[in-house]
Formats: sequence, C-alpha cells, structure tokens
Amino acid sequence: MFNIKKYNSLKSQIPSDVTIIAVSKTKPIEDLQEAYEIGVRDFGENYVQELVEKHEKLPKDIRWHFIGHLQSNKVKFIAPFVELIHGVDSEKLLNEINKQGKKINRKINCLLQVYIAKEETKFGMDEEELQQVIAVLPELEFVNICGLMGMASFTDNEQIIKSEFNYLQKLFQSTSRLGGLRGPSKQLPPWGTEGALSMGMSADYKTAIECGSNMIRIGSMLFGERNYNH
Ligand SMILES: *Cc1c(COP(=O)(O)O)cnc(C)c1O
Repeated sequence: MFNIKKYNSLKSQIPSDVTIIAVSKTKPIEDLQEAYEIGVRDFGENYVQELVEKHEKLPKDIRWHFIGHLQSNKVKFIAPFVELIHGVDSEKLLNEINKQGKKINRKINCLLQVYIAKEETKFGMDEEELQQVIAVLPELEFVNICGLMGMASFTDNEQIIKSEFNYLQKLFQSTSRLGGLRGPSKQLPPWGTEGALSMGMSADYKTAIECGSNMIRIGSMLFGERNYNH
C-alpha cells in the first residue's frame, strides 16, 4: 500500500525544488498505481528485470530512476526509457551506457555515485576515481552526467551522516563549478540548473536536505517496510 498521507506530509515539509523519488522496489504494481493516481511520476527501482516489467505495465509518462547497482551487461534493457541512472560508479559502466545510448541515439542521464560511507559494503567511487572519470567524459557523447549520488552510513549517529553528506555536497559544488560534471552535453537536466545531488533516504532525508540534497530517494516511509532488504 502507498501511504498517501505520509507522501503529502513529506511534500509539505520539504523545499519545492527537492524531487522525491518514490522507491518502489519489491512492491507490487498496484502500490505504484496508487501513487501514480495522486500524481507521483518519479519512481526508483533497484533491479533491471523488475524495472523493465513495471515499465511495460504502467503509464508511459512515469520517470523511471534506476538506483541500484547496475551491471554492464544489463544496460541495454533500460537504455531506451530510463530517466536517470543514479549509481554509475565506474568507467567501464559509463562506456557501456555510452555505447547503448549511441545505438539508439539517446543521451542517457546519469549520476556518478561517490563512496561516502565508512562501511565497506557500499558502492561508489572515491574522489580520485571520480576525477579520472570526469576526465574521460568529453569522449562520451551519449552520456549526460547530471550530478552526484551518495549513500551515508547506516547509523543513528547524526554527526557521522552529516559529515558524509557535507563531504558529498562539497564535491558536488567543486566539480560542477569546474563544469566537470556535465561532460559534452549541452542539455540541462530537468532538475534545476544546478544539476542533481541525490542523497537521503527514509531515515536520513532531513539531514540530507540540510546538506544541500535536491533529490531524495524514499522507499519504506511511503510504501512500508520491504520483505527483504538490499
Ligand atoms: C532501497 C533504497 C532506497 C530507499 O530506502 P528507504 O530506506 O526504504 O527509504 C534509497 N536509495 C537506494 C540506493 C536504495 O537502494
């Protein structure tokens, strides 16, 4: 079930320039339909096959965000319709996205995922890898880098979360000031002229917004707890 009350209250709490991605992974089509009916258009999914199936069944004006860890061999399945790929964390993956984009003549919007958590389990690039990837962007004509994405440590310690988000915001500001992020694209993403800084989930979105996030990925708070956690 989609919690309309929680959604409306979330919307009224946050600045209007912050995009809510309704993270619907593992949830049935009916839940997404309920959200769609009250106007939700941005949905986030973590698994390629699930995303493809939901895209086929649901209205075509939905903006699908891929927020999981994307394997290079699966890029082709989502390239024709995905709105934004949040978790791009290697040059290899970028090259594949560029290749698939070229095949269908579509520039694919991406965020570069930066590793900000102290935990070993999270995906993402460090600062050095990020700079290396930024350096090759001019060659990738069909990749449209729109900003950065990151996930904070899974902890109740607000100070740790804050310092991780602040670090990502600083990187975001310095890289976009250099013009580094946009690569060859002349196209501005639809999420404001600043680009997208995707950080914050159900547990830490408030802190994330304080630290400059303009895109929050909210799952369990809107759709209820998931049966399994990835
Ligand atoms: C599942 C997931 C979310 C949503 O998490 P909640 O805690 O349910 O809000 C956000 N971002 C990513 C990358 C996820 O995998």
